[in-house]
Amino acid sequence: MELQTELDSLDAQHMRRSLRSVEQNEGARLQVQGKPLLNFSSNNYLGLARHPQVVDAVRQVLDHWGAGTGSSRLISGTSVIHHDLEQALAAFMETEAALVFPSGYMANLGVVTALVGEGDAIIMDRLCHASLIDAARLSGARLFIYGHADLAEAERALKRTASYRRRLLVSDSLFSMDGDFAPLPELAALAQQAGAITILDEAHAIGIWGEHGRGARAMADQTSDWDVVVGTLSKALGSQGGFVCGSQALIDTLINKARSFIYTTGLSPTCVAAAHAALSLIQEDSVPRKRLHGLAHYLREGLRGLGFDTLDSESQIVPILLGSAEKALTCAAHLEGAGIYAPAIRPPTIHAGECRIRFSVTAEHTEKDIDQLVNALSRWRKS
Ligand code: PMP
Repeated sequence: MELQTELDSLDAQHMRRSLRSVEQNEGARLQVQGKPLLNFSSNNYLGLARHPQVVDAVRQVLDHWGAGTGSSRLISGTSVIHHDLEQALAAFMETEAALVFPSGYMANLGVVTALVGEGDAIIMDRLCHASLIDAARLSGARLFIYGHADLAEAERALKRTASYRRRLLVSDSLFSMDGDFAPLPELAALAQQAGAITILDEAHAIGIWGEHGRGARAMADQTSDWDVVVGTLSKALGSQGGFVCGSQALIDTLINKARSFIYTTGLSPTCVAAAHAALSLIQEDSVPRKRLHGLAHYLREGLRGLGFDTLDSESQIVPILLGSAEKALTCAAHLEGAGIYAPAIRPPTIHAGECRIRFSVTAEHTEKDIDQLVNALSRWRKS
């Protein structure tokens, strides 16, 4: 059958993907096929997914609201707890308003397609997340991709698109596969000069970077320079769901036009409660965030000391660039043999020839865990 031929061809190119069931997942450790492994692949950066106060908040809301909302947000799927979370997110992100979506992917789809369409232009970094690329394609606007963090190319694209009706300049703040930050002040200034709307995806930075974990735009003192900020509830916040922050007019536009908000069931009360509890914890306690920064630095230094190319990583996301899919798979298999879980990252997640292992450090790791990883990679280098 044709599908099987396609799968076989993926296999032959080392590009086939498959699911692996995790049997236990606690702290920085998980168990797969009966084998305990040290996990370097989680976005639960602060360990809040299992924090006792988060779990307790979910238990309480389950008793009162049950498991599901039973309706889309515009029908009867908006409860007071959705409203409270949206107010808390807007206050945290220092914007007028916020809107919660069932996932960060859907938040990106919703905001881009609500703002632009045919006759408009989107100017976007080459390494933006797949959800932003999909959003751009779905919108019908013309897409202009500039080289990664290449300000001169971004400026040229803004000039070339001067005659378009509306333009969006879109970037991740912290790039999910390279672990580096976008040049935020420079990008915002270019967009402002050109009169383009700015969208910043802070999925990997919220909770980790900036004062109180407000994200990279807060770190760069850029809170008011980005028109739209997208975040997720599913990484540092340890829950599930996504959100968009901005002006009240933006949020009202999304409620009226964002199809990935309108035509889907409202986010489960359990996700809402978990995210709200996690948001409070993030603001109360900076210790896990600081601990994470220290551990990430320790890992980057260890890997660079071994001579690995960690690209321009400056964050808790630390890749090692390996090139071919085969090499990345061999490295991942070696690590698994050494008790470490960190899958190979291959196209289409990244560009061809840029296969890598992407390590994500969490506050639940210890220096000893990082030593175990660095030692395993040192042995692989020598093998
Ligand atoms: N944006 C970025 C930069 C991401 O890395 C991700 C998730 N990998 C998303 C958006 C989507 O978020 P979610 O998992 O909540 O759908």
